Amino acid sequence: MVAAADAAPAGLEADVAGEAIAGDATSGAEPAEVPAGARPLDFIRKQVIADGETGAFGGRVQTRFPPEPNGYLHIGHAKSICLNFGVAAEAGGVCRLRFDDTNPAAENAAYAAGIAEDIAWLGFEPGAPAHASDYFEQLYCWAEQLVRQGLAYVDDQDAAAISANRGDFTTPGVDSPWRDRSPQENLALLAEMRAGRFGDGEKVLRARIDMSHPNMLMRDPVMYRIRHVPHFRTGTQWCIYPTYDWAHGQSDAIEGVTHSLCTLEFEPNRQLYDWYLEHLPLPGDRPRQTEFARLNLTHTVMSKRALGALVDGGLVDGWDDPRLPTLRGLRRRGYPPEAIRAFCAHIGVARLNGTHEVELLESFVRTHHNRFAQRRMAVLRPLEVVIQNWPVGHTEYRRAVNNPEDASAGERQVPFSGRLWIERDDFMIDPPRKFYRLAPGREVRLRASYFLRCDDVETDAGGEAVRLHCSYDPATGGGHAPDGRKVRATVHWVSAEHARDAAVALYDRLFSDPAPGADGRDPLESYNPASRELIAAAKVEPALLDTPPGAVVQFERLGYFARDTAAGAAPLFHRTVGLRDEWANIRRRRGGGA
Ligand code: ATP
Ligand code: MG
Repeated sequence: MVAAADAAPAGLEADVAGEAIAGDATSGAEPAEVPAGARPLDFIRKQVIADGETGAFGGRVQTRFPPEPNGYLHIGHAKSICLNFGVAAEAGGVCRLRFDDTNPAAENAAYAAGIAEDIAWLGFEPGAPAHASDYFEQLYCWAEQLVRQGLAYVDDQDAAAISANRGDFTTPGVDSPWRDRSPQENLALLAEMRAGRFGDGEKVLRARIDMSHPNMLMRDPVMYRIRHVPHFRTGTQWCIYPTYDWAHGQSDAIEGVTHSLCTLEFEPNRQLYDWYLEHLPLPGDRPRQTEFARLNLTHTVMSKRALGALVDGGLVDGWDDPRLPTLRGLRRRGYPPEAIRAFCAHIGVARLNGTHEVELLESFVRTHHNRFAQRRMAVLRPLEVVIQNWPVGHTEYRRAVNNPEDASAGERQVPFSGRLWIERDDFMIDPPRKFYRLAPGREVRLRASYFLRCDDVETDAGGEAVRLHCSYDPATGGGHAPDGRKVRATVHWVSAEHARDAAVALYDRLFSDPAPGADGRDPLESYNPASRELIAAAKVEPALLDTPPGAVVQFERLGYFARDTAAGAAPLFHRTVGLRDEWANIRRRRGGGA
C-alpha cells in the first residue's frame, strides 16, 4: 500500500503576454509539501481515533470499498478508495473490496475485474474481493428469521401499488392488504418465490416496520424482488435478489466491518441499516455507518450510470476515453495515480456536498509532470522555415536538457538542419502590438539553438504564409547574442528532414456547462461535440518516438502528452493537460485566496 503523495496545487506559471501559446512556462513554482501528519484530521479520522480511545469495536478498524460492478470506477470513487483504504492503513486495520452485486441485470465479471485493476492502479491493494452474492444463502436464512418473528411479509402488490401506497412526507402510507399474513404462510410463499414459482415483480418480501414512519425508507422496505435474470457469479441459482439495504449492513457485519463509510445520499438509509442489524442475531459488534460528501467536479458527470450512457450512446469512444473522469480514462489521458491521490488528500473529507473545479485537479497533474516528465519538441501545425545561410546538406546535433527540474534526466541530441517546422501560431505576417514571436524582419530564439530572423514570406493566393525564408546567426548557438541584443520570444522547432509523424489528440471539456445536468436539465444539452481535436500528422523530433506507451512527456510550450497504450498502432499522443496554471488564474480572480 502506498501513502498518498502530498502536494499543494501548483504555483503560478508564467502567463506569457496573453498569447495563444505560452512561452517558457515550463517551471511552475514548486508546491509546498504538506506531510500527512501536518494536515488537520477530518471528522471520520477523528472518530476512528476516538473509537480507539473508548475501546469501541474491541479496538479494531475495518472498512470496505463496496462498488456495484455495473461500470468502471470514476474519480469520485477514488475519493472513497483513498478514504477507506487510507483510514484502515493509518489505524493498522483492514480494508476490503466488496462487490455489491445484487443487481444481476446491470453487472458483469468484466466490470468487476476492471474495478479491481483500477484500484491497484490507484495504488491500493484490493486483495481477494468479497461479494454480496457470497452471502445470498445467509441473507435468505436471516429473512426467514424475520418472517418467523412477524417482522417481514410477502406482498402481492405490484411496484406501482407499493409506491402509490407508500404515502409521502405529509401523508402516512397505507398498509398492504397482505401485511397481516401469518408467518407460516409467508414462509411458504418466500420458499416458492425462491423456487421460481412466480414471475418477475409478482411478489416481494418486505420488512414489516411502520407504514407511517417519518423516514420513508422505513415504510416496509422491500427486501427481495423476483428477477429471473442470471447472475454473473451465481448463475441461475437464484431468482430472488436482495435489495441494497437488505444486503449492505449484513454484508458489513458478516465481514467484521467496523466503520461503514458511504456518501451522504445514504444518510436516510442509516436508520434501516441499524434496524436490520438490531433485529438479527449477529456475531460481534454492529458496524456503524458514517456518511461523507461525494466528490463532484465541474464540466463532467460523475455516476457510472451517466458515464455508461455516454459510452452506449457513442458520444465517447469507450470507458477509457481520455475525456471521461473514469480512472481508466484518466490513466489513458496521462493522469498519474500519485496526482489523483494528492488531489483527494488535498480536498479532504467533510459532510458538505460541493463541487470542485476540474482546474484544481489539473494543477496536481501538472505539478507532478513538471517534476517528472521529459521535455521534447513537437510541432502541431507546421509552417516551413528555410534557413538560407545554413550550409547545404549539413546537420548539427543540438544538446537539449531533458528535464530542467531533474538533472538526472540528462540531455539528448536534437538534429537541426536548414529546413525546419515551426508552429504556425508562432508567426504572423502583420503582428499586433503584443505579439513578440516571429514576423517579417523579426528575430526570435529557437529552443536549444540559434537566433532566427525572418527575411521574407511566401504566401498562397489567400495571403496565408506557406514558407518562411530566414537566416540564423551562427554566433548565437549558446542562446545569447555576443553583442547583447535581445529577443523577446523562444519558439520550438523540429528539423523537417529528421521529423517523424505522430497523431495528437487535443481535448476540451466534454461538457461546456460547469454543472451539466444541474436543475434537472439533461446533461447532454451541454455536451461539447468539439471536445476532441485530432491532428493526424504532427511533426515531432525523433526521440519522441522512443516514448513508451503510457508514458507522459512535455511537448515544449504545448503541454503534457501521454503516449497512447494501444499496441501496434501509429504513435498517438493525448494532451494530458496544458502548461498554463488555470487554477492559479481562478484563485487570482477570486481575490488571491487559496
Ligand atoms: P454510480 O451512480 O456512479 O454507480 P454509486 O455511488 O452508486 O455511483 P457505487 O459503485 O455503488 O457507485 O459506489 C461505491 C462506493 O463509492 C460507495 O461507497 C459510494 O458511496 C462511493 N462513491 C460513489 N461515487 C462517489 C463520489 N462521487 N464521491 C465519493 N464517493 C463516491
Ligand atoms: Mg450504485
